[in-house]
Amino acid sequence: DRLRLDGRVAYVTGAGQGIGRAFAHALGEAGAKVVVVDLDGKKAERVAQELTLKGIQSMALTADVSQPQSVQGMVDAIVAKWGTIHIGCNNAGINMNSASEDTTLDEWDQTFGVNLRGTFICCQAAGRVMLKQGYGKIINTASMASLIVPHPQKQLAYNTSKAGVVKLTQTLGTEWIDRGVRVNCISPGIVDTPLIHSEELGPLVQRWLSDIPAGRLAQVTDLQAAVVYLASDASDYMTGHNLVIEGGQSLW
Ligand code: NAD
Repeated sequence: DRLRLDGRVAYVTGAGQGIGRAFAHALGEAGAKVVVVDLDGKKAERVAQELTLKGIQSMALTADVSQPQSVQGMVDAIVAKWGTIHIGCNNAGINMNSASEDTTLDEWDQTFGVNLRGTFICCQAAGRVMLKQGYGKIINTASMASLIVPHPQKQLAYNTSKAGVVKLTQTLGTEWIDRGVRVNCISPGIVDTPLIHSEELGPLVQRWLSDIPAGRLAQVTDLQAAVVYLASDASDYMTGHNLVIEGGQSLW
């Protein structure tokens, strides 16, 4: 079964809740050992325990993806425990809501620091391990906002950073494939996670619903098979791809 991940070592960043948590469960159910990584170590622990209860081999790590030493510590800890890394899901991301004319450089830097710089740092650190063994699957979490500008337009830094994630994925995906490392990304539409139930975004959900041909928000379960597919040998001919899962929203 080319979709099975038995014997593979995977990590997922931002796996303490939301999409990353769902990715961690999906990869584990497909047979991988899973490292649950989050800035919030308690959340990471909780998700690792959920996996253990299902009989999935897992461990929790605290790391800040925007800090190279922190990410190197994550990679070293995984290699120390399980010898290598086969699958890296660079999913941690943050979203700030402010009109472009009011967006501070601090907000810009923080958003880019996690979403784009963090994705680069993780791709590079895990990629070095993967290139050495001539095998690896990297799956970055971009966003539908890399393609369209979802209403309302108060996401300049976020949208721009996610467009950067797509280009980073395309560039690494073509640069590394002849050494066995595939790099792809998933672009979810609006997913029902804690991120969108923030004070600023929560009231907009009704408006968004009318923008989605599928007539509902995405659930994290709508994304789980995609990450397993991109982590598996079944997708070996895909690299640099942006897999958009948005109920048709980017087409309207
Ligand atoms: P979420 O806010 O529910 O969870 C994100 C997790 O990442 C949290 O547990 C948080 O502690 C962790 N995190 C934040 N900064 C971190 C850092 N510097 N280092 C390590 N971990 C960090 O978010 P989510 O909705 O699950 O989103 C996950 C990813 O999917 C993000 O990249 C987000 O931009 C993207 N995305 C989300 C949606 C959506 O509608 N929810 C849509 C498209 C893309």
